[in-house]
Amino acid sequence: MTRILVTGGAGFIGSRFVRHLLDTRPGVRVTVLDKLAYSGVAANLDPVADRPGYRFVRGDICDPAVVAEVMAGQDAVVHLAAESHVDRSITGADAFVRTNLTGTQVLLDAALRARIGRFLQVSTDEVYGSIAAGAWTEEQPLAPNSPYAASKAGADLLALAQHRTHGLDVVVTRCSNNYGPYQFPEKLIPLFTTRLLAGRPVPLYGDGRNVRDWLHVSDHCRALALVLDGGRAGEVYHVGGGTELSNRELTGLLLAATGTDWSLVRRVPDRKGHDLRYALDGGKLRRELGFEPTVRFEAGLAATVDWYREHPSWWQPLLERAALA
Ligand code: NAD
Repeated sequence: MTRILVTGGAGFIGSRFVRHLLDTRPGVRVTVLDKLAYSGVAANLDPVADRPGYRFVRGDICDPAVVAEVMAGQDAVVHLAAESHVDRSITGADAFVRTNLTGTQVLLDAALRARIGRFLQVSTDEVYGSIAAGAWTEEQPLAPNSPYAASKAGADLLALAQHRTHGLDVVVTRCSNNYGPYQFPEKLIPLFTTRLLAGRPVPLYGDGRNVRDWLHVSDHCRALALVLDGGRAGEVYHVGGGTELSNRELTGLLLAATGTDWSLVRRVPDRKGHDLRYALDGGKLRRELGFEPTVRFEAGLAATVDWYREHPSWWQPLLERAALA
């Protein structure tokens, strides 16, 4: 697969994935389709702007004309474009339904018409709801609780239906929480880090007992590349991190990493419908494609905090864009 369309390539994970493709696949041709919504940052792709084989198209995945144009001649699609922030989906689900459902179907239809060889639908552990103990396998029924998770679950099902009904070669990945550089500063780790570095208070939901599994974005991108090449059509693959932390534990690590203390932590009312715990069984991806995370959480988190410390010119303008200032 040498010609790859990446949707949402100006976002946190998408930009890392585009850099990964261009760094690891000589001769690859990568087209990014991104509408530069509030979380899309053109500068995330500056490091590859002059690379041969790279092309950026500003456009909306819900627009069939632009999608048909960029789809022509591609070998594969890696679909990351999405509305991705749970809190925003609780205050307004419309954009989530539009981009995550309508946009995904527009892409799937265009991919079928253009006879694309592989469509990788990038999804999330949140589609399963909440699990008190143990870990989900890929056979777990979907039971999403937030509008974000529901829209991602719907998108996954539309993608799998396109495979079963029309024979499009579709694979789905579901990953746990990502962290790393270039994450939009409304998500927990960059939000807390940037505020703590400025000596400002941070909001901790409820009692902080909610547990998430964390994976470095570079490991997620390696997993996506493995599934793109070797995943079986019609299958779902979990990408688990293996580092489970409650939000309270994570907050403690971020306070230590930024040299601050609990006096800056403000308890705020819990998020509506807040899932208590997510946990993925990553055994299928390990067995079939040999995937193991390589970034140890402690080292990855320290490097991530350092990156935000050293790049205020990247995140400060984004605080205003997200009305977080
Ligand atoms: P992000 O918000 O940083 O990036 C999303 C990108 O999509 C942005 O560049 C935005 O401009 C673009 N976009 C939004 N609507 C669009 C539209 N209608 N047309 C074209 N482009 C549009 O998100 P992210 O954290 O990088 O997540 C990327 C994908 O990975 C999402 O599908 C998300 O559900 C999934 N995912 C994320 C995580 C995580 O922890 N961040 C975990 C698992 C799965």
